Amino acid sequence: MKKIIITSALVGSVPQKKDTPYVPITPEEISQDAYECFKVGASVVHVHARDKDGKSVHDLEIFREIHDKIKEKAPDLIVQISTGGRAGLTFDSRGKGLLINPEMASLSTGSCNFPKMVYENSPELIKDLAEEMKKRKIKPELEIFDTSMIQPALDLFENGLIKKPLYFNFVMGLKGAQSATVSQLSHLLSMIPEKAEWNISGVGKYQLLTTYLGIALGGHVRVGLEDNIYYSKGKLATNVQLVERAVRLAKEYGRDVATPSEAREILGL
Ligand code: ZN
Repeated sequence: MKKIIITSALVGSVPQKKDTPYVPITPEEISQDAYECFKVGASVVHVHARDKDGKSVHDLEIFREIHDKIKEKAPDLIVQISTGGRAGLTFDSRGKGLLINPEMASLSTGSCNFPKMVYENSPELIKDLAEEMKKRKIKPELEIFDTSMIQPALDLFENGLIKKPLYFNFVMGLKGAQSATVSQLSHLLSMIPEKAEWNISGVGKYQLLTTYLGIALGGHVRVGLEDNIYYSKGKLATNVQLVERAVRLAKEYGRDVATPSEAREILGL
């Protein structure tokens, strides 16, 4: 069976220390968590930047500090920088992290509602981010929050802005966007090319469901406090615990966990 890539979404732009003491905020905390997750089986970490008050920022120097500290502790780990979150509508406010040339970056290919805001990604912004990634040889992870985001992703490929293997991340169960259901997942899978790679992320209580689905159906999985701060109802999780659980479930199913270099091979990095 194909090896599974486990991504840890360490921080995101929403959870604060008042929500969970386990969310890493400073570059030191984020890099330490990245290293601990790497040791238990994560081969990719997806990171956002926060300022010292915990506010989500697209700040070049903070991204650089996080990236360099992770690479110091775990040189082999794949770092994926977010170009999403709740950071504004322009290339300047969303593309800063690309300037440090990470191996990967997230790329949302459409707009939808988040629980309390519109998540807006204009065709122009999507194209500008994709062009910058192409120029810098950064592998995009295509963030699919709803069905309508698949076609624009395929168009990027048609237009030569992204290369095979396409790598989708289905974010499911976020209020305002697509639901975390088997029927929605099978619909998404029917829309992507056969040889594309896909990852799945469940928000909140759906994270465990999507972990099972990704493992069983041949996808890759993303876990972490960005999407879900609980281990089980009422019990807070750490990033490490969530990675450990995904590793355990994958192994039970008979799928070995990809090392970062195996992940590079699967994703064509
Ligand atoms: Zn993110």
